[in-house]
Amino acid sequence: MSDVKPASLRLVLGDQLSRDNPVLRDADPACDWIWMAEVPTEATHVWSHKARIALFLSAMRHFRDELKAAGYTVIYHVLDTHDFPSLRATLDADLEHYAPAQVLCTQPGDWRVRNSLADAVRFRADTHFLCASSEFADWARGRKRLVMEHFYRRMRKAHAVLMDDGKPAGGAWNFDKSNRKSFGREGPGMLPPPPAFQPDRITREVLTAVEEHFGTHPGSLAQFNWPVTRQQALAALDDFITHRLPAFGAWQDALWTGEPFLYHSLLSAALNLKLLNPREVIAAAEAAWQKGHADIAAAEGFIRQILGWREYVRGIYWLTMPDYLERNALNAQDALPDFYWTGETDMQCLHEVISQTLEFGYAHHIQRLMVTGLYALLLGVRPQAVHEWYLAVYVDAVEWVELPNTLGMSQFGDGGLLGTKPYAATGKYIQRMSNYCDGCRFDPAQRTGDNACPFTTLYWDFLDRNRNSLADNHRLGFQYKNLDRISVAEMQAIRKAARRLRNG
Ligand code: FAD
Ligand code: SF4
Repeated sequence: MSDVKPASLRLVLGDQLSRDNPVLRDADPACDWIWMAEVPTEATHVWSHKARIALFLSAMRHFRDELKAAGYTVIYHVLDTHDFPSLRATLDADLEHYAPAQVLCTQPGDWRVRNSLADAVRFRADTHFLCASSEFADWARGRKRLVMEHFYRRMRKAHAVLMDDGKPAGGAWNFDKSNRKSFGREGPGMLPPPPAFQPDRITREVLTAVEEHFGTHPGSLAQFNWPVTRQQALAALDDFITHRLPAFGAWQDALWTGEPFLYHSLLSAALNLKLLNPREVIAAAEAAWQKGHADIAAAEGFIRQILGWREYVRGIYWLTMPDYLERNALNAQDALPDFYWTGETDMQCLHEVISQTLEFGYAHHIQRLMVTGLYALLLGVRPQAVHEWYLAVYVDAVEWVELPNTLGMSQFGDGGLLGTKPYAATGKYIQRMSNYCDGCRFDPAQRTGDNACPFTTLYWDFLDRNRNSLADNHRLGFQYKNLDRISVAEMQAIRKAARRLRNG
């Protein structure tokens, strides 16, 4: 192969595994070569969960084989067959060797990767998303506040999703009142099991390689069960629409011990690797509503996550990077507690969510926002440390979606660009939405004393500590009135208890 030169080299990155990838559009298998590389820095720039590494590698190797079967020449660097540490170093060696006339790549999802390739590669626009970054920037220009709801309604109209003669289908833009229930004492009952994807030969080889190269990384591979091909991703979509979409809306915010998945779709990783296109996912949910299989509250609640939140956070990411990464509006400076890497804490909610995260590389949105995210926010952990943890431990973690969710939504590090107020709550929120507190030695109603719930203690301390930054926020007026009702003596006890928690 070394004497033959490609007319062009077309890079396919680990989260660009779609036959609709714009670099494949006009690729001629006779003379244009595909280039893919497994590189250690992508697994180590944050201390990645083993399942996250395995998912990327297995999906990449399956896609490589699919392209080869379609007649393409694929230069593919397997992890343990080369010494180059980074994507750019691996590419540079090949550029010198093959000297292609053109090097093309679809715009990388992460700023870090785009920056590292920018002077070597011609980028093509990423057509996976429904809203181009430039379109989002046009929408954002001149607006005082970038309200997700406004963006979402615009997207519904622009793409004619759940619209009825120019009006929102079902007579409302959202159905939050019918959604977001908790299970109550009786619990969720029998739940549909998630679909099973038995590891094939390629996945088994990858699991072995990950243990060999990244054995000290967090998490387990024992439960690895993620779709790694487009065919499996389509099966996962079908399984969700058939078995879980109808109950998605009602229970999307609920939490329950020993039930990591509930009625969630488990599609984020397949979407982020681009095994699925968001348009087909939205269309499947809309069709389920049209056929009467799911009600409007369920379909809208689900579609909002993809057409609304997913597109919105990507818009925010590209609008604000790289400066966004450094934001720390509340000047939070603490380190992330060590138990985030082990789950070893007697706070039952954190133990449950972190253990599940390490076991599966998965937690649903409310677990991420209102348990692990909430605790870090109340404790005052540096947003960048929280960001690195979230980027490491979830199989769906890619920076363009993870960072705005973590630094913005969950840690209020952007000072309110993404959400109008911090998602701060006492342990009573967790008690209302879950049964975690039943098995916990703490009491969510107590803010001081031996049994005080650390969330509840830290909540009042958080409001107190951040008074200068937050007291003028009109959405926190009620909370600050309640804070002011606490006696001086009790406030001193809260501050002392919070200091103890912060000191571990
Ligand atoms: P479902 O609950 O079934 O939702 C359906 C789909 O909607 C998801 O697959 C996802 O594609 C999309 N979605 C839902 N909520 C969001 C959101 N807030 N932002 C963007 N898309 C959304 N999502 C990621 O894909 N990668 C991440 O790295 C990531 N990090 C997060 C970090 C924090 C602190 C928080 C609070 C949320 C994060 N999310 C992230 C968003 C959300 O938690 C996950 O998309 C979701 O839990 C994935 O599980 P699911 O596929 O079962 O989702
Ligand atoms: Fe979590 Fe507090 Fe409930 Fe314990 S009592 S599970 S720490 S919210």
